Amino acid sequence: MSRFLNSRYAELHPYVPGEQPKDRTYIKLNANESSVPPSPAVLEALSVPLINGMGRYEDPHCMDFRKAIAEVYHVTPEQVFVGNGSDEVLGFCFLTFFSGRSKICFPDITYGFYQVYADTFGVDAQVFALKPDFSIDVDAYVRTDRHVILANPNAPTGLCLPVSDIERILRANRDRLVVIDEAYVDYGNKSCAPLVEKYPNLIVVQTFSKSRNLAGARLGFAIASKEIIKDMNAIKFAFNPFNLSEMALAAGTAAVKDTAYLEKCVKQIVKTREYTVQTLRSLGFYILESHTNFIFVKHPVLFAGDYYRRLRENGILTRYYDEDRIRDYLRITIGTPEEMDEVLRVTKSILCAVA
Ligand SMILES: *Cc1c(COP(=O)(O)O)cnc(C)c1O
Repeated sequence: MSRFLNSRYAELHPYVPGEQPKDRTYIKLNANESSVPPSPAVLEALSVPLINGMGRYEDPHCMDFRKAIAEVYHVTPEQVFVGNGSDEVLGFCFLTFFSGRSKICFPDITYGFYQVYADTFGVDAQVFALKPDFSIDVDAYVRTDRHVILANPNAPTGLCLPVSDIERILRANRDRLVVIDEAYVDYGNKSCAPLVEKYPNLIVVQTFSKSRNLAGARLGFAIASKEIIKDMNAIKFAFNPFNLSEMALAAGTAAVKDTAYLEKCVKQIVKTREYTVQTLRSLGFYILESHTNFIFVKHPVLFAGDYYRRLRENGILTRYYDEDRIRDYLRITIGTPEEMDEVLRVTKSILCAVA
């Protein structure tokens, strides 16, 4: 730490992303990214004229991209905010609405970035414990007047809350914001995006990093009332007007239009997930009901930390959280059928060794 660091950050613990080691080739199932390439339309969009045009700044209003998203989600471009990954979109939510003196709440087990943002932006955060079955304690959010941020489906549990429960939270207090982080919504779940007309206190955040296979392009968006989006854009223009590169905008616009490809990819992941879950259960694993592109698994005799290390030695990266309540579980991203076959093969040999 230099002696110049702003004292308010002295205690800050930054977010720790899933590792990206380069010592060998790994089957990478530790960050819920996608193992398949983005839509072929993306490659087409990243053309020579686009590259030659990069001497100029791109459109800071990102209108083509916002229009494309608006069309798919049946809202207006004025109801869409776009950012450099949904992490940045969430960051702009904090900066625009919470930073300084707001009070927010989220579950004790959820996406780790919410606590980091709260610390970064000086927000008073309260956590509500998930119930023993890891489901969200809806009543706790109905009772409090704090702003709410929920990942739905939640990570790393993979469990999903029905939209009717989110509506209860929205209705309980219309003077507080409810941010729903839908990073995994495409894997067969219902989005809250159609509710933004009905609830002016709702912000729905989504990403291109999971179902749209574009984690490295850094693309995310929010859908909300046009007043909320106007506020967020004002703060964006007060901080970094050109937050998305021309390349990312072109990639995102092409990807969001290719709804058939999205559907195909999601179907494949869900099929591979179900097959993986079934096989792991037959090997004695307990697995939470996944509504995402990852599974959260535990085994009665194979300790999750050991399972993580043994998989790693065999060239497979997964995500282990040595934290209260979840240290018995391992999070495994669903990759291609071939990758999951390798996971199952290695898992069987690990189990043979401990039995
Ligand atoms: C992956 C993930 C994000 C971040 O996505 P980016 O768009 O890559 O920044 C946000 N929220 C949750 C719950 C995630 O799992």
